[in-house]
Amino acid sequence: TARVRGGGRAVAHAPALDVEVGRRPLVAGRLQYAIEHDELEVHYQPLVDRAGAVVGAEALVRWRRAGRLVPPGDFLPAARSAGLMGALDTWVLDRALAQLARWRAQGRLDVHLAVNLSVASLERPGLVAEVVSALRAHGVPSSSLVLELTEEAAASGPGIRRRLADLRAAGIRIALDDFGTGYSSLAYLEGMPADVLKVAKELVDPLAEGAGGRVVQALVGLAHSYGLTVIAEGVEQEVQRERLTELEVDWFQGWLFGRPVPADALTALLGAASRRGPDLAAAAAN
Ligand code: C2E
Ligand code: MG
Ligand code: MG
Ligand code: MG
Repeated sequence: TARVRGGGRAVAHAPALDVEVGRRPLVAGRLQYAIEHDELEVHYQPLVDRAGAVVGAEALVRWRRAGRLVPPGDFLPAARSAGLMGALDTWVLDRALAQLARWRAQGRLDVHLAVNLSVASLERPGLVAEVVSALRAHGVPSSSLVLELTEEAAASGPGIRRRLADLRAAGIRIALDDFGTGYSSLAYLEGMPADVLKVAKELVDPLAEGAGGRVVQALVGLAHSYGLTVIAEGVEQEVQRERLTELEVDWFQGWLFGRPVPADALTALLGAASRRGPDLAAAAAN
């Protein structure tokens, strides 16, 4: 299926591109060119722990085109139709690992890097060997890398499950992205080779209106019982962070802590305790 999660919500100022269905072949050609000529960019959104420290980042692709920054929601559907997702993921992974190696060279050895993988990538039998050799080429330990996949991928065939198990055996962590939307079935958590569960923005949103968050609470309990780390996505407001902290979410991601930014801007945030640190500590003491 050609479903894109969170399509277009990140870069609101980017104008609509000519990616209507009828023009997809045209866009696909340009995108192929873009991948080959470095017109794509990787931006990084901070991942923040309960103490407010930036502990890592999620790599998110953008397309620099005619001076504009095009969000993935505007071109991933075309990339998918054109069979370019594998090439795109490979490109992003290589760039992101190169950046991670730079951060490590600067002494930031404990940065967690999250990279998204499409179903197309997960279906490739050579994926595990490719990821392992990319880690080696960049001199980065597998324990620094988290690969994010949506339920759609996780719910598919035994080939993908085996590949996930192989990735984990190589020391790479697996995150279930956007959990709690779409295909969600709690049953598939059973026996799922995963390390991290990312609670979908759709479940975080209602907390801003003072909703109790019982679904999130149940999800956190279930995820923790499987030993998974829980990350809340789409955290935009302080009231959400407070509630999610009470609900024992481990890490946070969202505009409250920072939007996706170019690597240099993320570098400035790394290691620096966020301004939210002290009030979090105060909240915990209460
Ligand atoms: P995702 O992996 O779930 O990434 C999170 C998306 O939510 C990002 O959108 C991010 O900018 C947005 N977001 C984060 N915090 C907030 C918030 O507080 N409020 C709101 N409204 N949005 C927030 P983005 O960058 O547009 O990416 C959309 C989707 O495109 C990603 O969802 C992911 O599924 C896909 N994607 C992005 N880069 C790649 C890639 O390199 N490879 C693959 N396969 N997919 C990618
Ligand atoms: Mg998403
Ligand atoms: Mg993701
Ligand atoms: Mg997500």
